[in-house]
Amino acid sequence: MKVESNFARRKTRQISVGTVPVGGDAPITVQSMTVTKTEDHEATLTQIYALFAAGADIVRCTCNRIEAAEGLARIVPRSPVPIVADIHNNHKMALAALEAGVHCLRLNPGNIRKPDQIKAVAKECADRQVPIRIGVNAGSLDPDLCDPDHGATPEALVASAMRELAYFDEVGFDLVKISVKASSVPLMIDAYRQLAETTDHPLHLGVTEAGPPPAGTIKATAGIATLLAEGIGDTIRYSLTADPLEEAKAGRQLLESLGLRERKNIDLIACPSCGRAEIDVFKVAQDAMNAFADKQIPLQVAVMGCVVNGPGEARDADLGIAAGNRRGHLFVKGENVAVVAEDQMVPALIDWAEYIANNGVDAALERAAATKTEARKAAQEDRDRNLGELGEDANQTAVVIDAIRNH
Ligand code: SF4
Repeated sequence: MKVESNFARRKTRQISVGTVPVGGDAPITVQSMTVTKTEDHEATLTQIYALFAAGADIVRCTCNRIEAAEGLARIVPRSPVPIVADIHNNHKMALAALEAGVHCLRLNPGNIRKPDQIKAVAKECADRQVPIRIGVNAGSLDPDLCDPDHGATPEALVASAMRELAYFDEVGFDLVKISVKASSVPLMIDAYRQLAETTDHPLHLGVTEAGPPPAGTIKATAGIATLLAEGIGDTIRYSLTADPLEEAKAGRQLLESLGLRERKNIDLIACPSCGRAEIDVFKVAQDAMNAFADKQIPLQVAVMGCVVNGPGEARDADLGIAAGNRRGHLFVKGENVAVVAEDQMVPALIDWAEYIANNGVDAALERAAATKTEARKAAQEDRDRNLGELGEDANQTAVVIDAIRNH
């Protein structure tokens, strides 16, 4: 499915994290982080593969001690995606992770503050041509940059990143991407906007410690999507208190819904239901969502509560189903193609979606040659029956408006 976004993207220089380009005109990438002990390389690799399948392009693993660095040495050659080592307070772990062959480091300027140590790491990265993410975090900002009255301000977050960049400059290293995360959405938005005005390095977006879904997902989306719509951001991470697969899926879904990445799985649309619905739309939509979850079929699929308005309202969907009189009316691009029993609505959607994915919409319409006349007739019968029983005003809107007027 084609990418539809027309947001003007900020021009950034491009770096490569392993084989994945970040910045410039490269697709915006999704990142996540493993929650296993890195030294448990089998468990970590299992999680990396699951993250890759869920849509992650790059995965970060913690490198907090020498056993973790040894784990990375085993993980990197077998990983399906480039690996970023997350470095905490000890710059020697950065050097060990480089020795292990990682594709990128993440340094927090608030944690490693000695210029000599920062420059030693940057020099080693320059020699190996391995990029670094300068990962500024409002919660661990260098205290000497905090505003005495306002704490971590957007200006202070940007200043921290620029100071780190200046150290890198001294050793001739510039393979850098930058993040200025905060758990406050307005703060991170301001900081990234200022950073985008200050440097052309690629930016890694995130709302740190966003919390558990759904509130955490909404918070992260508010921050990341606002910036992406302004053309700011080259790679993203949802920091959720949840299974990291949720982070990868959320990141992927956000980019797909903004038209910034090609769709990998279905775009399920569903009506909100109303007095005319002939099925439990919420349940059927959720069942369909679950059934399509691992299918990787990049179609728009509609679940509609009634055959009166459903096929018309979802006529642009590749495929859809609308309920009527205990049966499901399947339609392809708004054309009725088949009728199935109510309990077969989701399996029928899967069957037709797979057929379209393999053969195309025209072939699906040909497949319906023998059934479409009957299907159209049955839909008309159920539409007439629904209208006969519920009238034109199934939601009793006119009655309510009358009551308001007579009040
Ligand atoms: S009219 Fe039909 S399609 Fe529209 S919201 Fe109601 S049930 Fe859904």
